[in-house]
Amino acid sequence: MPEKRTVVVTGASRGIGRSICLSLASPDTQIYFNYFSPGNPEAEEAAAAETEKLVADLGSSAVSMSVDVADAKDVEAFFEKIVDETGRVDILVNNAGITKDGLLVRMKENDWNMVLNINLKGAFTCTRLAAKIMMKQRCGRIVNIASVVGVTGNPGQANYSASKAGLIGLTKTAAKELAARNVTVNAVAPGFIETDMTAALSEKARKAMLDQVPMRRGGQPEDVAAAVKFLASDDAAYITGQVIHVNGGMYM
Ligand code: NAP
Repeated sequence: MPEKRTVVVTGASRGIGRSICLSLASPDTQIYFNYFSPGNPEAEEAAAAETEKLVADLGSSAVSMSVDVADAKDVEAFFEKIVDETGRVDILVNNAGITKDGLLVRMKENDWNMVLNINLKGAFTCTRLAAKIMMKQRCGRIVNIASVVGVTGNPGQANYSASKAGLIGLTKTAAKELAARNVTVNAVAPGFIETDMTAALSEKARKAMLDQVPMRRGGQPEDVAAAVKFLASDDAAYITGQVIHVNGGMYM
């Protein structure tokens, strides 16, 4: 094992991504994460700086960059920087994701493309780059943040649920291709988690979602991060191609 493990988390200026960084932070990890909100760069930079600070408080170190996961060239440059600085990638968490909801018949092509490009193509680009490095290392962990709706479907989320179902397919295929090189690939599928993404829902939509949760409450980002931490740990060495659901019983 290397002295320091290099961890890459996409979309970690806030929400679940930030919690994942904190759960993986320790003196023997070097974390890199990205974020990308062209609409409000100052607020996002401040949020990214806060994630960096919280990681540093745990004795680890995090470096952030504004990189759109949908832009393959920028993602390549991000990975080049990481390899230049550390020479490796031990853990990749594909977490960056967005929603652009609307009923299928009214869904704009642009909203379909945007969600698929960020949620699915972004994960493909990062996985392909990380896989090459991990195969040479003969070890590595990849965890993809999917969603319960990638398995169940959800009215108003044709683009989002398709992207997450695709991510589960990518997870299983990559798991089969990389297993012999000691690289595991798994997915965590959250249900309803309290973040900015779900805060944007109307009270009616929120209630409708929570009514489906036997535990009668939303989950916290830390609930998802705990599953990621486990899958990235030595204890999960023989687990690959799996989807772990973190959803308070919403889907069984
Ligand atoms: P969130 O609070 O909206 O945070 C999303 C993060 O992704 C932010 O850091 C954001 O950066 C980043 N991001 C967005 N577009 C990006 C892009 N093109 N390139 C790079 N980074 C980008 O969302 P969340 O609730 O934490 O969700 C995290 C993941 O969990 C997503 O994949 C989501 O689909 C999945 N998930 C969430 C829930 C839930 O209930 N919250 C349920 C199931 C699955 P900025 O801050 O710069 O915008």
